[in-house]
Amino acid sequence: MVTLISAHVFAVLLGTAEALALAALAVTAIRQNRFRSYAREVLKVAVIPSLIFGVGLLGSYASIGNILIGIAVLTAMSLLGGYGIFRLKSTKADFEAKQAAEKAEADRIAEERRQRRPIFEFCPNCATKLVERDFNGKKKLACPSCTFVHWDNPREVAVVLVPAPDRSGRLLLIKRLIAPRIGCFALPGGFVDKGEGPEEAAIREVFEETGIIVKIERHLRSVPIPQANQILTFYLATAIGGTLTNSHETDAVDYYSPEALPGEIAFPTHLEAIQTWAKQGNNA
Ligand SMILES: [Zn+2]
Repeated sequence: MVTLISAHVFAVLLGTAEALALAALAVTAIRQNRFRSYAREVLKVAVIPSLIFGVGLLGSYASIGNILIGIAVLTAMSLLGGYGIFRLKSTKADFEAKQAAEKAEADRIAEERRQRRPIFEFCPNCATKLVERDFNGKKKLACPSCTFVHWDNPREVAVVLVPAPDRSGRLLLIKRLIAPRIGCFALPGGFVDKGEGPEEAAIREVFEETGIIVKIERHLRSVPIPQANQILTFYLATAIGGTLTNSHETDAVDYYSPEALPGEIAFPTHLEAIQTWAKQGNNA
């Protein structure tokens, strides 16, 4: 009899634990909006053990044999309940990991969208909804009512390597104060403006960002960045005047040694250009 009572006490404690687990489950299910997966867990954690518990309790009052069966069933139930709570915990961890992965993916897509802007939905000439049309195997957004086609040509960015005038092998770098990659270092440069050639843009951007006046020596290379729909054109330039000055886009402006960079370089292509220049030992 004592065994039976303690079994019942144990069952009540276990029932309480399950009720708490269920409450936690419900809160998480509501927060994560994942009712179906949680419904399966509820079945395992609470419904099945409760049914077994009910059968065991009824049986325990009938005869000695049933009491033994009841105890066995209660034991089985407590094992199941314990397993259910264990499952619940690991399921929650799984969901949280999955949710984190989904959020990272959503962030990546949002960033890609942002980089590819502008994304046209309507014709800028006649406001008709644009449709996808095939041009030599490439899909472009085109207007079905007029001749507009959103060719989405890449934008050109001039990027400039300016060695220190003292021939110390240091390069002019800026610490970015604007997105993307705020706080990282980069070579000076920027978008080519309407009516400008890339060399002019290079000279203008270096002056705007650093206060240094440069003369372009030569074109180094042009690199397409499809994910940003840009072409980066790298130039080697010589400082011929000006004074190092911060702009609204920069937090720090100075010459830094490629062997002792002051921080993370914002873009892999810039880092590559810096390293290539340093490797060639080019003090031109
Ligand atoms: Zn149109």
